[in-house]
Amino acid sequence: MTLEQLASELQGCTRCGLSEGRNRIVFGSGNPRSRIMIIGEGPGRDEDEQGLPFVGKAGQLLDRILAAIQLTREDVYIGNVVKCRPPDNRVPTRMEAAACLPYLYKQIEMIQPQIIILLGSTALQNLIGPQARITKMRGQWLESKSGIKILPTFHPAAVLRDPSKRRPVWEDFQKIQEEYLKLEGKR
Ligand code: SF4
Repeated sequence: MTLEQLASELQGCTRCGLSEGRNRIVFGSGNPRSRIMIIGEGPGRDEDEQGLPFVGKAGQLLDRILAAIQLTREDVYIGNVVKCRPPDNRVPTRMEAAACLPYLYKQIEMIQPQIIILLGSTALQNLIGPQARITKMRGQWLESKSGIKILPTFHPAAVLRDPSKRRPVWEDFQKIQEEYLKLEGKR
């Protein structure tokens, strides 16, 4: 199966209640052969309207962060824990995340990234475990059973709300750049 086939399989999905309020399913976007996959929480208003991940203010900040480490959206693949917008941008429930995660896992399986960046608490808790705390675990490399290096960091929306998170996020992305350059054989 290809990513396109998976995306079309998802059309009209009603596996969870988030289907009721969505305009568009936000499947994910970017380079399907990227070494880096970025995972956020779920679509917001702009994403729901455009059908693309991280296109609002938080997405613009993510673009600037990527540019600071000489990467663009075409160098990475971006997805979310849930593919439909939760009402009023609330955090997706455990049930909604559980309904949608199998699609994200299929995307990971197809893309085979070597680095996964988890943006924020929802991504961290759903991919690593419900007890995981972003404030404690950000900036620390984890490794999946299949050897994917995973780095949790704050969500750009959290950085917009709290500028004191800028520096730690910048430090985390420098670590990502270092690892990426190693994988590319440039360091
Ligand atoms: S959030 Fe995921 S599981 Fe729920 S309806 Fe949307 S695509 Fe389906």
